Amino acid sequence: MANDTEGIEKISPSQVKDIEPFVECIGGLWVPCTGIIDYRSTTEKFAELLVAKQPESSIVLAEEVKDYIHGTEITEVITSKNNYFTKYMIFCGGLQADRLAKKDGVKLKEKVVGFRGDYYELTDEAKHKVKNLIYPVPNPDFPFLGVHFTRMTNGDIECGPNAVFTFKREGYKKTDFSFRDTADALSYKGTWNLLLNNTGFAYNEYRRAFSKRLFLQTLRHIIPSLTMDDIKPGRAGVRAMLLGQNGDTRDDFRIEYQGKSIHVLNAPSPAATACLAIGDAICEMAEQHFNLN
Ligand SMILES: Cc1cc2nc3c(=O)[nH]c(=O)nc-3n(C[C@H](O)[C@H](O)[C@H](O)COP(=O)(O)OP(=O)(O)OC[C@H]3O[C@@H](n4cnc5c(N)ncnc54)[C@H](O)[C@@H]3O)c2cc1C
Repeated sequence: MANDTEGIEKISPSQVKDIEPFVECIGGLWVPCTGIIDYRSTTEKFAELLVAKQPESSIVLAEEVKDYIHGTEITEVITSKNNYFTKYMIFCGGLQADRLAKKDGVKLKEKVVGFRGDYYELTDEAKHKVKNLIYPVPNPDFPFLGVHFTRMTNGDIECGPNAVFTFKREGYKKTDFSFRDTADALSYKGTWNLLLNNTGFAYNEYRRAFSKRLFLQTLRHIIPSLTMDDIKPGRAGVRAMLLGQNGDTRDDFRIEYQGKSIHVLNAPSPAATACLAIGDAICEMAEQHFNLN
């Protein structure tokens, strides 16, 4: 095996077979240092450390920010349960980022559109076929990472996701629908341009969303021995995609300031992995523009 860069090794087809008898490919990169974390526990730890460091801080959950009224010095934040007063605001609204920003006066040409990703899971009997994280060669034409196999921290194996336009921004089920979100997305020319520029891709992704057989076909590009009995439906996630009017997705992180607010407008994957670095960038922006020093 030839060492490419530290910790990453190129593997020839015969070596791939030695390591993983189920994966079929013409070559691969073995990255021994890659891994996965339990992100819920990670965020719980962040919360614990934050409050330990600054005991006057509190983390409030399950309260929707409805409105904010900027005064000369102080902004009043109106939520579904309380009113808060603050000098500065940092918005990380994910699927609602564009709406929160527009309400704050940010002139944003793009719109957030939701794309659901469905996963399957390997059954207990099939779990032995995946011992690590297995990724396909990325397709540079699409910002979505293709279907891949992920061994979770609890030993479950997730496979997916697909990428389908969702009729509700936070719609995690195939039939979820919101009139407001659908009207918002379909009245935006960027959505139509995206769908029209990628008709074949969109059509195939929809078919896969409703056909286990077609989903399996895609998974079998990587592990040909998988059968219908090896997979069962798993969970789903919705990606927030900032979409330009010409249908192009904004693939990079985008953070902007406006008056006394900072808005995270686009934080696509791997924003979760990069969250501490993104946090540093936001702190730097806040120090500079809010004159905090
Ligand atoms: C299926 C899937 C797999 C992914 N896998 C990976 C991965 O392996 N690695 C990786 O790095 N990234 C991954 N990502 C991407 C990652 O999840 C996102 O990049 C990241 O979560 C973006 O963070 P965010 O803070 O911008 O938005 P979010 O994490 O979506 O957080 C936004 C929060 O704001 C809240 N909110 C919105 N509006 C309001 C309001 N009005 N009032 C109060 N709260 C509000 C929402 O409820 C939500 O809790 C994946 C995403 C998906 C969908």
